[in-house]
Amino acid sequence: MDCPPIESKPAIPSHLTKCPLPLSVSTEAPDKKDSTNTPLATTRSHSPYIQQSTIDFNGLSWPGRGTLRRKKATDKEKGELLAKLSGAVKTILECVGEDQDREGLLDTPMRYAKAMLFFTKGYEEKLHDIMNGAVFDEEHDEMVIVKDIEFFSLCEHHLVPFSGKIHVGYIPDRRVIGLSKIVRMVEMFSRRLQIQERLTKQVALVLSEILQPQGVGVVVEASHLCIGMRGVQNTGAMTTTSCMLGCLRSTAKMREEFLNLISRK
Ligand SMILES: [Zn+2]
Repeated sequence: MDCPPIESKPAIPSHLTKCPLPLSVSTEAPDKKDSTNTPLATTRSHSPYIQQSTIDFNGLSWPGRGTLRRKKATDKEKGELLAKLSGAVKTILECVGEDQDREGLLDTPMRYAKAMLFFTKGYEEKLHDIMNGAVFDEEHDEMVIVKDIEFFSLCEHHLVPFSGKIHVGYIPDRRVIGLSKIVRMVEMFSRRLQIQERLTKQVALVLSEILQPQGVGVVVEASHLCIGMRGVQNTGAMTTTSCMLGCLRSTAKMREEFLNLISRK
């Protein structure tokens, strides 16, 4: 991705050099070196990011530092938060050389403040509330795929949007989930400040934790405004990330089936 400058090794694709998650995020199919272990367990222990539990004691999933304060705010505190945020937008208007008293901009700070809280509402959502009652015991062990889930997120490096499609697949181990819940989970993690690599991984890890399936695969295809509007200005560039766990990581045939199914038009 185009986000912070690359200091070294320009030969490695930039989104890989900057990924805080050392494993499992790749633009290519993963290799077979982890094939001897249960993928779910193997992948967890290798990644420092997920040393934090998937769901914390408040029921939040990887909350930010201020998430709980935001979630528990009283009406008065919410008002103060909005005022502070819109004040910051006034500063932006001033700094870009605008006249903040101009008619068209009068309501912009408060409007933007509210929009920003909406764009990041995923911090406040609890996985349990989303998944509630939607995990079922089922004797089904064939691949389940939900593809082309549209998402909109904000790049945490530039606070500008990136958006695209997420394809999610898993092979159940006697537990399945309501398909709309997968879409809501994608929404929850994308409505945060994100990088594409982390979004990919979070969706995969949560599914594997909740369902304990035989395997999980997540592929994200997105275009980033921070690439299109600034920097290299390549508006057509798409970034693809993937996270394969379990038998989708260890078995080339399974992975191939998954990738074939999601690429079928
Ligand atoms: Zn960016």
